[in-house]
Amino acid sequence: MQPETDDVTTVNAVEAASTISTMTLGEMVAQCYQQAVDKGWVEKDVTVIEQVALIHSEASEALESWRDKQPLSWTDSEGKPQGVASEYADILIRIGHYCRQLGIDLEYEVRRKLAFNAGRPYRHGGKRA
Ligand SMILES: [Mg+2]
Repeated sequence: MQPETDDVTTVNAVEAASTISTMTLGEMVAQCYQQAVDKGWVEKDVTVIEQVALIHSEASEALESWRDKQPLSWTDSEGKPQGVASEYADILIRIGHYCRQLGIDLEYEVRRKLAFNAGRPYRHGGKRA
């Protein structure tokens, strides 16, 4: 079920963002993993192949939301966040869970990659944007 306007969704997104903005990326990763533990998602080993597939499934959900012309961020009648924004959040939550499980310091890796990318030429590799 979709809302009639984007107004409500904007308020919900702002509320969520204000809570998240006080966390470091490392703290967010820890929370993603702890919630996965609490909700029973770490009871069996998940291979990297399965992790990538599950991250991709969230990306596919984002695509389908966009194709269905849903607002970017909205909340359904049961209180569940919906839209591309929610699916992007799911991607980040899964990545946080799996990084912690694999012992990856995501904050370090993001900073390292941003620093490397800063030194690359404009549209490096000559590919289309
Ligand atoms: Mg999802």
